[in-house]
Amino acid sequence: IDLGILKGSSFVVLGLARSGLATGRALKAAGVDYICWDDNAVSRDAAVAAGLNVADPAGIDWSRIAALVISPGIPSTFPEPHPVAAAARAAGRKIICDVELLARAQDKAKYVAITGTNGKSTTTALIGHILAAAGVRCEVGGNIGRGALDLAPLGADGVYVLELSSYQLELLETFHAYIAVWLNITPDHIDRHGDLAGYVAAKENIFARQQVHDCAVIGIDDEPSRAVYAKLAQRGIATVPVKLEMPVAGGVSYRAGMLIDADGYMVDFADVPTLPGDHNAQNAACAWAACRWLNVPREEIVAGLKTYPGLPHRQERVASVGTVVYVNDSKATNADATARALSSYRDIYWILGGQAKEGGVAPLAPWFDRIRHAFLIGEATELFAGQLEGKITYSRCGDLKSALDAAHERAQREAKGNAVVLLSPACASWDQWKSYEHRGDAFRAMARALPGAQVLGR
Ligand code: ADP
Repeated sequence: IDLGILKGSSFVVLGLARSGLATGRALKAAGVDYICWDDNAVSRDAAVAAGLNVADPAGIDWSRIAALVISPGIPSTFPEPHPVAAAARAAGRKIICDVELLARAQDKAKYVAITGTNGKSTTTALIGHILAAAGVRCEVGGNIGRGALDLAPLGADGVYVLELSSYQLELLETFHAYIAVWLNITPDHIDRHGDLAGYVAAKENIFARQQVHDCAVIGIDDEPSRAVYAKLAQRGIATVPVKLEMPVAGGVSYRAGMLIDADGYMVDFADVPTLPGDHNAQNAACAWAACRWLNVPREEIVAGLKTYPGLPHRQERVASVGTVVYVNDSKATNADATARALSSYRDIYWILGGQAKEGGVAPLAPWFDRIRHAFLIGEATELFAGQLEGKITYSRCGDLKSALDAAHERAQREAKGNAVVLLSPACASWDQWKSYEHRGDAFRAMARALPGAQVLGR
């Protein structure tokens, strides 16, 4: 992205992870005056290696700085602003993020912004996939994949599809979404916004500066989201409500495996195996509404849904042996996420465990009747054994390889019909793995190496 329009102003970039590095590179390439900094020496070294101008902003003269460009990972307000953010604010300087700079540099393009507590990445990737398949010029990034300033320039006929967290949304000033997609709200991440009201208010920035030709797509299956919808309805921008179970006037709904558009047009979801479960129906219905507002023909949206490859580690179908499908849901690091996966299948050989979160798997009891057997791994083994005792049968397997072998053997021996061997750990991975991605990659490779395995997905 060419930031030439910023020439003549000076910036401080704080935080040198993916988005900060991209910001530094773009400012440097455009010949804009800046310094960048990170409290972590390793990150600073990477920036120096990339040829960026690294300097400590402590004690600089803020009066000559146009704005602080801060990484969304660094607190600028709650609970305690970073000292550099505090200094910038005390001097009356703006605090913004990379997405704001993208919006200023690419002010002719259209923006589709996606937020919510859950489903952001899925919905963002899905909209990007549908648009690309329909031949619409688009770039996908933000909180997912590439940083905003690493995206390609698009011009007036292009669409940026951006996943935006509440932290990024707080740091926008002129950015305006042609289509704002609001999926859902559940209490989460409220530590950095003070309380649920603060968290919702930060996310509501996604609708800021929207005007008459713009559209707000909004999931209304939870109470906080319904309140936001009611407020929006008074503002005069077009709103498309999205609801599960019940048809909703002027909106998109999902019932008994069918997606139903405002005019009654229906799509059968039996054809979309990469988006299982009601939660994914919410994501798909929101994607549908956004693509319709962009005038993508219905048939093309349906085609895009059917070819959507899914994202790694989120109920990712990695292999099949006979009729049994092997599913990598390593991203499910808490009971809430695992509940979504359990609710999506009927006959489940469930691999779980790792580093347990508070409450363990007790909240998952409503789905226990779907579990044919559980295979326990990692530190959580004894805790989970206690919580499952007398409710479902389980084995202590130690590690992932032993658990997969045992689950495979058992599923192949006794399963009839469409069973799944599901890794949905409801736990962090750090006792045995570097990250949930590391754990999921290992599961995918092991499942594909099983005798007779057919590879599914990419
Ligand atoms: P995010 O980017 O918001 O973290 P993802 O698309 O990466 O969301 O999905 C992460 C997990 O959240 C999924 O594996 C699933 O368990 C759950 N999830 C996805 N979509 C939804 C939704 N619409 N409602 C509730 N939970 C969801």
